Amino acid sequence: MSLSWLSGCYIFAMGILLKDATIVTINPGNEVLENGDLLIEGDRIAKILARGSGLESENHEIVDCRGKIVIPGLVSAHTHLTGMIQRGLWDETSFESWSRRSTATEKHFNPTPEDIYLIHRAACVELIRHGVTAVLNMFTLPVRSLNHVESACRAFVAAGMKGILALSFRDQSPDNAGVVPEDATPESWMSFAREAAALVRQFEPRVSFMLAPSAPQRCSDRLLRSCRELAQELNVGIHTHLAETKRHAEIAKELYGEPIVNHLEKIGFLDSNLSVAHAIWLDDTEIDILNEHQVKVAHNPSSNMKLGSGVARIKKMLTKGLTVGLGADSVNAGTVYSVFEQMKLAVLLPRTVWGSEDWVLPAEAFIMGTRGGAQALLLDGLIGSIEEGKKADLVILDPSVSILPTNHITEELALCENGSSVESVFVDGKAVLLKKRITVMDEASVISEFAALKPRIARAEAAALRDPSG
Ligand SMILES: [Zn+2]
Repeated sequence: MSLSWLSGCYIFAMGILLKDATIVTINPGNEVLENGDLLIEGDRIAKILARGSGLESENHEIVDCRGKIVIPGLVSAHTHLTGMIQRGLWDETSFESWSRRSTATEKHFNPTPEDIYLIHRAACVELIRHGVTAVLNMFTLPVRSLNHVESACRAFVAAGMKGILALSFRDQSPDNAGVVPEDATPESWMSFAREAAALVRQFEPRVSFMLAPSAPQRCSDRLLRSCRELAQELNVGIHTHLAETKRHAEIAKELYGEPIVNHLEKIGFLDSNLSVAHAIWLDDTEIDILNEHQVKVAHNPSSNMKLGSGVARIKKMLTKGLTVGLGADSVNAGTVYSVFEQMKLAVLLPRTVWGSEDWVLPAEAFIMGTRGGAQALLLDGLIGSIEEGKKADLVILDPSVSILPTNHITEELALCENGSSVESVFVDGKAVLLKKRITVMDEASVISEFAALKPRIARAEAAALRDPSG
């Protein structure tokens, strides 16, 4: 029993009843329920029933969802939220120069823990307004600092969102000269990772921890093996960039004398708790090997288009049985932190280069942005679909004209929704957005403080132009 906070009235309510909704469940049968009732009790989905369930007589807080659509909270399976400060910068003509300048800008900006707290809350505003309730944040910083890690965790808690803090590291840079930290032995990285994991654990279950080697070719085999061992010991997942550009795949072949995935299998790095971002420049055998080890893929079409990285063979992966989620990557690699946008581009992009047998269907893209992402975050027992007993991470859409008349609702959502229909967002049964108003933060002050960073960002941009090695 809880105080009724939706209406602001001081009455006691047993639960929250979303009444008469169209419910896009993404359950194993991908059912869409017309005029369904959904009862939230505590942080869970307690019941899903057909209209006229009679649950309204049990003193529940009632949310009238006639004409509304309820979908699972969207999941972003690969992002770098600190990239928020570099939106619009570095329209370079190669991945390498983009990467060098982006890294240098972050170094010159030199974010304080307070900056990290602000930037992450601003990113969460954007994510929530696009219906995203869980995000994997590949966390890269110019300095190793537990204070910065803590600030990112505190921001997720303040925003009421589920965050995976995936701590990024490397000890070599064959593809990015000049970005190796000074003290970069595997031992020192794993020692810091262990401390960071213990810190993040204090923010569970809202925030959880993963290890994130930047990319296999940016880590010695010794570091990758240490990472695998530590993941086992801490019982956490691993996330990494894989074969993002053609050059990355070529460098890996030069380093290992064989394709990168073959090498990763040989050193025992592949496992079902690994998710890989991009996975573009892989041959058929490599895709088969990833599938054998149940590795998950995070597809980032906007980033791959913006940086000219290539087109991942997603349909082939899906056909073979691989799990694929969607990510927006950094917004200066892509555009906005929207999973809806990734769904649309995941459908459109393959059609520009391949025959129809390799086209991704809109319904497949919607599953990637929900259940697939949850699997990549290793949270599919809790989120990613609307099923009784799962966490109440839900989005209520008040359909804008762009997704009407909802002839085939999942298809229209994947292809046409831009976030403007997002009306309310629940995480663990608590509204973080209610009738278009962010309830957990002072959105206006977050936005104005974030916008005020512009002169500092401009100075960092100028410094990166003068000194691109940072
Ligand atoms: Zn990335």
